[in-house]
Amino acid sequence: MTEHVANNTTTHTGSSAAQAAPLVHAVNVMKSFHGNEVLKGIDLDVRRGQVVCLLGPSGSGKTTFLRCINQLESIDGGRIWVDGDLVGFREKEGHLHHLTDKEVAAQRRDIGMVFQRFNLFPHMTALENVCEAPIQVKGTNKKAARARAVQLLEQVGLGDKPSAYPAQLSGGQQQRVAIARALAMDPKLMLFDEPTSALDPELVGEVLRVMRDLADQGMTMIVVTHEMGFARDVADHVVFMDGGVVVEQGKPRDVLGNPQHQRTKSFLQRMR
Ligand code: ADP
Repeated sequence: MTEHVANNTTTHTGSSAAQAAPLVHAVNVMKSFHGNEVLKGIDLDVRRGQVVCLLGPSGSGKTTFLRCINQLESIDGGRIWVDGDLVGFREKEGHLHHLTDKEVAAQRRDIGMVFQRFNLFPHMTALENVCEAPIQVKGTNKKAARARAVQLLEQVGLGDKPSAYPAQLSGGQQQRVAIARALAMDPKLMLFDEPTSALDPELVGEVLRVMRDLADQGMTMIVVTHEMGFARDVADHVVFMDGGVVVEQGKPRDVLGNPQHQRTKSFLQRMR
């Protein structure tokens, strides 16, 4: 299937241009499910090292947008670039051609994703969960993958749990293994889809702490969350979505502290 390239499509060529360009550049992204328009033209730029929080009521399209960036959903309109690469398509002779499954897998390899449900392999230990993708997908040798996994488990505060199976870990610990697992692929971008919303309240803090450390280390992150404290303290930029559109975006102190739109105000009041 091909699609004609719009005239205003930005081109990203040359390494210095690629460095200066946003890591994520999304333009007019649209997505429908069975005629239900869920994303109605989302624009977003995320610079390298930035933490962007996507906020908004349930059903506003936040998760869908995140999944579009990682090609877990295909988009119906608009364009997304990650690190200068057009997501899901190749441009040739003025037309867009869908990438092959192999090319899609290669693009996805550089993006780590952490889900609400941790989805660890239940029959593997924490260490094996973290090693699996580097060994199977990247072909990293086992010794090097294990050494890196040990390091990553230490980074997420689970240096003492390499041999534990998921069922022996709390939800917060499992989620931290899931973060280590995503990091094991050395992603250039981390996507978090409500990473703490399935956790008991007392376990939320330990996961947010790991995410904060990651942000401090300069990881580029897009985080769908209802944790307003995290958004206020850690995000460089917050995006408030409602009904499939970006209603308002900016610095957390502006959007959260002095919202301009009634829909943002009502949402923030409900979150208190
Ligand atoms: P949010 O993350 O803001 O809660 P979502 O992106 O999960 O919102 O969902 C936005 C809308 O898209 C909802 O109405 C949801 O039911 C719908 N939706 C999401 N995924 C699918 C799907 N795979 N099939 C059909 N509808 C979907």
